[in-house]
Amino acid sequence: MLVFLGPPGAGKGTQARVISKELGIPHISTGDILREAVRKETSLGLAAKAKMDRGDLVPDDVISGIVEERIGEPDCREGAILDGFPRTIAQAQFLDQVLQRSGRNNVLLLNLQLDPKVVIKRLAGRRTCSKCGEIYNIYFNPPRQEGICDKDGGPLVQRKDDNEETIRQRLLAYEQETVPLIEYYRRKNALHDINGNGEPEAITERLLGILKNA
Ligand code: AMP
Repeated sequence: MLVFLGPPGAGKGTQARVISKELGIPHISTGDILREAVRKETSLGLAAKAKMDRGDLVPDDVISGIVEERIGEPDCREGAILDGFPRTIAQAQFLDQVLQRSGRNNVLLLNLQLDPKVVIKRLAGRRTCSKCGEIYNIYFNPPRQEGICDKDGGPLVQRKDDNEETIRQRLLAYEQETVPLIEYYRRKNALHDINGNGEPEAITERLLGILKNA
């Protein structure tokens, strides 16, 4: 199991998409699962929407149950990439238990580190293809044609929570709830730090280098 950690905007989603194709294992983004639930107005979506719009985390028990179910599906038997989970120590402990129960305690933790000054610009400039989910950045990784996905011509949209006020709250949630988790993993000596500054392709190379040695 691969786990991507790092602040919002560190490139977890972008990298997880590429590595998922490279290794042929599913990419599980809890943010994507929640956004899809919001779009479909399911009970999960309705429960999560207000928290997400504010930039707060949704409750641990809500998200943990969803992850447990998803990684129990047959396509995850050979492993999966978790992007955006765990985000709290309680979620990490839950994940440990689930993996242990299923005899899969081979976990690689990849911590994407990014200059805090770059984080805000990465988030404010992020655009996503509404068809295929490809992620762009108008400052750092623009599409060939403004507002249009290079891959399938789909319209690019901005995430609702990528606005200044919500970004501030998301970064606060990261500091308060996820940084302690990263420290917890660091104490267990289980973390691989990766420099998340630079071109997406260069960061992919760094990640593949770690995966090859692991
Ligand atoms: P992301 O796409 O990872 O930036 O997640 C978007 C939003 O979904 C977050 O700001 C949270 O509100 C919610 N979310 C995603 N993953 C989690 C998680 N593991 N725990 C709690 N909330 C989450």
